[in-house]
Order: sequence, then C-alpha cells, then structure tokens
Amino acid sequence: MESVTLDTINHYINGQKVKGKSDQVGYVYSPSTGKKIAEVPYATKEEVNEAIHFAKQAAKKWGNTSIGKRVEVLHRFRHLIVEHTEELARLIGLENGKTISDAKGEIGRGIESVDLAIGAPHILKGEHSANVGGEINAYSIKQPLGVVTCISPFNFPVMVPLAMSTMAVAVGNAMILKPSEKVPYSALFLSELWEQAGLPKGVWNVINGDKDTVQEIITHQDIEAISFVGSSKVAEIIYETGTKHHKRVNAFGGGKNHMVVMPDANLDKAVDSFIGAAYGSASQRCMAISTVMPVGEQTAETFKEKLKVKVEKLQAGSFDDEHADFGAVISQEAKQSILRDIEMALKEGANMLVDGRNPDVENKEGFYLGATLLDQVKPDMKVYIEEVFGPARIVVNVETLEEAIGLINDHQYGNGVTIFTNSGRDARKFTQEIEVGMVGVNVPIPIPVGYYNFGGWKSSRYGEGQMFGPDTARFFTKTKTISERWFDQKESDELTFDFPGTKD
Ligand code: NAD
Repeated sequence: MESVTLDTINHYINGQKVKGKSDQVGYVYSPSTGKKIAEVPYATKEEVNEAIHFAKQAAKKWGNTSIGKRVEVLHRFRHLIVEHTEELARLIGLENGKTISDAKGEIGRGIESVDLAIGAPHILKGEHSANVGGEINAYSIKQPLGVVTCISPFNFPVMVPLAMSTMAVAVGNAMILKPSEKVPYSALFLSELWEQAGLPKGVWNVINGDKDTVQEIITHQDIEAISFVGSSKVAEIIYETGTKHHKRVNAFGGGKNHMVVMPDANLDKAVDSFIGAAYGSASQRCMAISTVMPVGEQTAETFKEKLKVKVEKLQAGSFDDEHADFGAVISQEAKQSILRDIEMALKEGANMLVDGRNPDVENKEGFYLGATLLDQVKPDMKVYIEEVFGPARIVVNVETLEEAIGLINDHQYGNGVTIFTNSGRDARKFTQEIEVGMVGVNVPIPIPVGYYNFGGWKSSRYGEGQMFGPDTARFFTKTKTISERWFDQKESDELTFDFPGTKD
C-alpha cells in the first residue's frame, strides 16, 4: 500500500493510476491545518471518454461472470477494508478533517454495504411461476445495466461511495466514480483495495473533477444510470440533466433534521443524544440533527439548561487529537458561510445561547468552528429554512406536538427526524403523520442499518429508488420477464390469432 505523502492526484482508469492531463486543477486542503496538500487535475472530455470506453468493455465480461466469482472478489475486498481500517481512517481524517474515531465509524457503516452486496446472489433471485398458460412457465431475471456512475460528496469519503457503488459492482455493472474533488484520496485508496481483491480491470474507475467533469459523465451516451449524493441544489440539476438524457437517476440531497422533545421524555438521554447527533463530525452529516423542538415552556427551560452546560464543554480539534469531540469544517469558504448564517440569525432576532465562533484551538490556520447554539429561532428565519452544514444548531420552541409535526411537514427538507418521548401513543402519531423519509423514536440519528433502504422525502431526494439497502440492487439492474414453452414435437401445429389467455 502506498504511503500518504501527497502530491498530484491521479485518476484510476482500466486498472491503472493515470496522470491527469488537464491544466484545470483544484486543490485539496487538510481542514485540520488549513494547509494545501495536493492538486487535482480535473478530467477532460477525452479522459472521461477513455474511462467510459474501458468500463463498457469490462462491463460485458463482468456482467457475464458467475455471481459466485463476483462475490469472491467482494469477500476479499471486505477483508482488505478491515485490514486497512487504520490507514483509511487517517486518510479520511487528513482530507476531510473528521476525527479518527468518527472516520472508523464511517468505515464500519460502509462495510455494512459490502456485507449486503455479498448477499447479491440472494437479492438477484428472480420470480418463477409454472403453468401460467398451457405448459407455459414465466420467470423474471435481473440483468446489469452496463456502465453506471456515482457522484459523491465530501462528507463521507468512504461510506457514501461504498453505499452507492458496491452493490452496483456486485450485480455486474462497471463503475465510474466521481468523488468530491475536496476528498479524492479515499476513493483512490478504495481503488487499490479493489485491485488487490482481484476485480478485473475496467470494472471500477475513478475520475476526478468538478461540475464540468460531472456534466461530461452524466450526458455520455454509454452511461446507463446515475446515482448522486450531495446538496439539494446540485441533486436537482443532476436529476434534470440526467433524465433529459434518458438516464436512470436517483439524487440524494441535503436535510434539516429535527429532534422533537416531549414533556415526558427522558431529558438526560435526549440531551446526550442531541450532542452526538447534532455536533458529531462538525455537524457535516446529512442526517445530523440541526434543530431541537422542545414541546412546552417547562420542557424547553429544563432541556436548554442541561444542554447549554454540555455544549459549552465541546472541543473542536485536529483529526488526530484523541480529545477532540469533532474536527474542523471542510474549507475556509464553508467556515465563512456558517459564520454568515450565524450573523444573519442574530440579525433576524435569534438569541445566542452558546457562541462557538472563536474556538480555542491549537492550530489557528485550521478551518475550526466551535459548537454554537441559537435559541428563539422562528420558522421564517433563514437559519431555519436552509441547511447549515456546520456546528451551528438551533432551538425552535413549540407548544404542542401538533405544532411540531406541522412545522416539520411544511419544511422543504424531509431527510431524517426523531422524537424523544415515553408515550407510545405520541410516538405512533408522530411516526404515522410525519412527512420525512427516515424517522427515529428515542434514537439520536435515525440512519437505517445497511440492509434497510435509505432515502429522504421532499427536496432531500430527487428521482425514484433508495440506497444502502436492497433497493440499490433494483436501481442498478433491469428486470426481464420471460414466458417460455417447449413443444412436444409429435403434436401438430395449431395456428391461432386469439390474444393469449391464462386459462388455455
Ligand atoms: P455538493 O453538492 O457541493 O457536491 C457533491 C458532488 O457534486 C461533488 O462530487 C461535486 O464535485 C459535484 N458538483 C458540485 N456542483 C456541481 C454542479 N453544479 N453540477 C454537477 N456536479 C456538481 O455537496 P458537498 O458539499 O460535497 O456535500 C455536502 C452536501 O451533501 C450536504 O448538503 C449534505 O446534506 C449532502 N449529503 C446528502 C446525503 C444523503 O444521503 N441525502 C449524504 C451525504 C451528504
């Protein structure tokens, strides 16, 4: 395995690292130090064409390779990820800024997707019915699509690419992965692991670039399906462009995830859950809790009192600092944008409960923000309407459960939500009436385990199909239904023009 002294980022095409030819480059920064650590040449149209050309050739063979052989590669891949977890976690920390323990958690969740894909032989089983007509059997099979692409965000450099792509490969497709240009190392590390696992050349390719590269990939005639994860603004663009070019598209966007705290909830558990779910990973998770809604004045007062003490103690720090609760945010631009959101909230009348704008950190050049908590946020404020992808969290006070459900249902996003309560009746009402894709009851982040489907509602997802779970296999395959009869050669042929019925 190559050591991590960083320079120019390669593409990975047809089983080889390929030096990018473009003059158009981006830069990778380590958020913990604020230092530039590598340059990334953005793939040209020719480089995209070349990768897709090799992928198309590889897809034909790979799709016809026995499922048992394909799964053998996946077993080895899983083993290699486990073996290299330390190295991979450091790489994630270096380029993304999250703490090593958080990065290991991410890798663990990514492995769940490999586990599910190892079960592809079971998931790929079709249906079969005997005697649907006179001596006719009907059955369905699931076939790979060919060359497919996944476009991933910066916040989960390993888990999201694994969740999007492993099943796609397992069911027989060839992959063009376009990782976030801010975190390209982890995807290339995964390429090395695929290679060591024995994946044939051309089945897995990594192309680096920005929006222009994405445009080349998603409009290419040989790309059959596009799976995208990122902000909602871009998800919408990808969905519109992809479907216009007749591709199968699912595009997962951002979120504004609420935690409702009922008067009968265990408040200590709710506070601890909020801390981890709201500030973990510097709040750069699509399923991070951004908004707490205590129900009733008394709940709000007690909850905020307990919460404030704990938020004040949270410490941002370098990815390799064992004492840090969370790391830096991804870039200087992201930091400035979060600071602007806080300023705007204060201007609009929010009340600062905990001010994390000037955190006490060792490395002043890193992109650090401390934990911020804003109270008295109203539903018409920008800080409530939009996703804030950093450690500025808000309190919206409500009087009743109905008011909480109404506000959440009116919100543009519908990724995740959770309720803390001891009432089964309130919990049931909430889970039934809430218009959000992933719902928790007394759990901090309602991200489903890898063998359940994952996906938000409303502006949090464009297109059909979910990811992580078995739906990934459906998304990356096409179903063929076959009706079949074998003649008795001794019978004479009968010519009929009737529409075939099922009772013949
Ligand atoms: P982003 O939308 O800026 O970028 C995502 C990917 O799209 C990157 O690979 C980027 O190169 C590409 N891209 C950017 N602009 C583009 C354009 N105009 N046209 C085509 N491609 C473009 O997202 P990000 O900042 O990397 O990630 C954070 C966002 O992702 C947050 O909004 C977060 O909520 C969301 N997210 C969602 C999920 C989910 O499952 N719903 C999971 C993780 C992250």
